[in-house]
Amino acid sequence: MKQKNVFVLEKGKVVTPFQVFEKGTIVVEGERIAAVGAAGAVDIPRGAEKADISGMVATPGFFDLHCHGGGGRGIMDGTYEAMNEVSKFCAKNGVTSFLPGTGYGEKCPHEKILATAIAAGKAIKKGTDGSEVLGVFMEGPYMNPKKTGGDERPPSISEFDEIMDKSDEAVRVIALAPEVPGAIEFIKHVTGLGVVASIGHSDATYDDLLKAIDVGLSYTCHTFNEMLPIHHRFPGAIAGVLTRDEITAEIIADGVHVHPVVIRLMLRCKGTDKVVMSTDNSEFTGMPDGTYDKYGSKIVVREGTVKKTKERVIGGIKEDATIAGSGMTLNQHVKYMVQNVGVPLREVVKMASTNASRLLRTGNLKGSLEPGKLADIAVLDDDFNVMMTFVRGRIRHKRGSA
Ligand SMILES: [Zn+2]
Repeated sequence: MKQKNVFVLEKGKVVTPFQVFEKGTIVVEGERIAAVGAAGAVDIPRGAEKADISGMVATPGFFDLHCHGGGGRGIMDGTYEAMNEVSKFCAKNGVTSFLPGTGYGEKCPHEKILATAIAAGKAIKKGTDGSEVLGVFMEGPYMNPKKTGGDERPPSISEFDEIMDKSDEAVRVIALAPEVPGAIEFIKHVTGLGVVASIGHSDATYDDLLKAIDVGLSYTCHTFNEMLPIHHRFPGAIAGVLTRDEITAEIIADGVHVHPVVIRLMLRCKGTDKVVMSTDNSEFTGMPDGTYDKYGSKIVVREGTVKKTKERVIGGIKEDATIAGSGMTLNQHVKYMVQNVGVPLREVVKMASTNASRLLRTGNLKGSLEPGKLADIAVLDDDFNVMMTFVRGRIRHKRGSA
């Protein structure tokens, strides 16, 4: 019989996040967590391999529900191989579960989305060498044509059903504009299938949003970005997002997408149980600074930002360019939330892991460090660098090794 992998992480801070142990111990057996607790309060199995994580912090592995790529590889390649490479990029950033996102770039024909969903279905079945693929996030294509995104078109139930059928039902979240014709019927249909419907790239009014909530819409795509701003007499969808408990709000906390005081405002309205941190990373995240010619645009990567310009570039950079995803990885978003927004780490961990797991209904397996749950663990140093990442008890990233 094959010996079960048994190891112990000890002497570091452990954020479960429901409890914090300043000097904690985690025991892993096989792919699950066997025990978690304060040093001395946990039985260490004889012969277990031990890793000293003094000065570091162990948290549940992060979730990224909005990731288009990273390190030079894009999800829309539509191959298992590209997905696997992105999964390795995610694991480097402490992400142990992710939803590869369609919709990045200028054109997003049905065939391309379908190929990507099929590749994700394969990645779910076969497994990957990094972060676990839990399904697909469809960012569009059913968006408001006035907003930037892919190539927008009206919602199509038959198109969506074909994607679900051929991908082994890989789609877990879809973002669309609830105000476009046919959207309400579409939301009713997808939420009936257990897919999370999300508002994104939309000009929805407050009333439009309420109608969508009534038929099951429960999530947002990068809250505040590509949505109508709040006006005190015409509040727009954002006022509904902030005040309705049915909605969990996604935020891109990288200091570029949203001002920190607006994140604070959101947290005062939503609390830390109804917010999910995602990256909107693209294939350009993690690439050296420079200008990349792709998708009919110039993509400028500079100091942790990724922006899209049209043909005109002034002084090397066009300052009013559209944001084209975040240049910062999820561990850096966590750092930003703690250091720039001022949120305690245990609350940030909920937003980077626990809440997303609950939204995808995987909370019984993932999203916290508790006995019986999968050993998906991120170990960070005091500057939020990811030192180690474990997925189902297997090491998928170790800082300093290739
Ligand atoms: Zn996106």
